[in-house]
Amino acid sequence: MNDRSNFTISLRETLDLAVKVKAALKAKGKRRGWTRCPRCGGKIAAALAGPRDHLHMSCETPNCIRMME
Ligand SMILES: [Zn+2]
Repeated sequence: MNDRSNFTISLRETLDLAVKVKAALKAKGKRRGWTRCPRCGGKIAAALAGPRDHLHMSCETPNCIRMME
């Protein structure tokens, strides 16, 4: 596997996760929470920010999943 396909897979994983986390937070009426990282098994802090509920996610492991919608 080359660098390009690794990047594509991790981006898709991250986006899939973001959609699920956002739906879960909204279903519970929460603005922030935790989820398990699919890449390293660690914890990901997730929070909704701003009037449009942009999702921020960051894994506790350095250089793992980190995303701002
Ligand atoms: Zn991770």
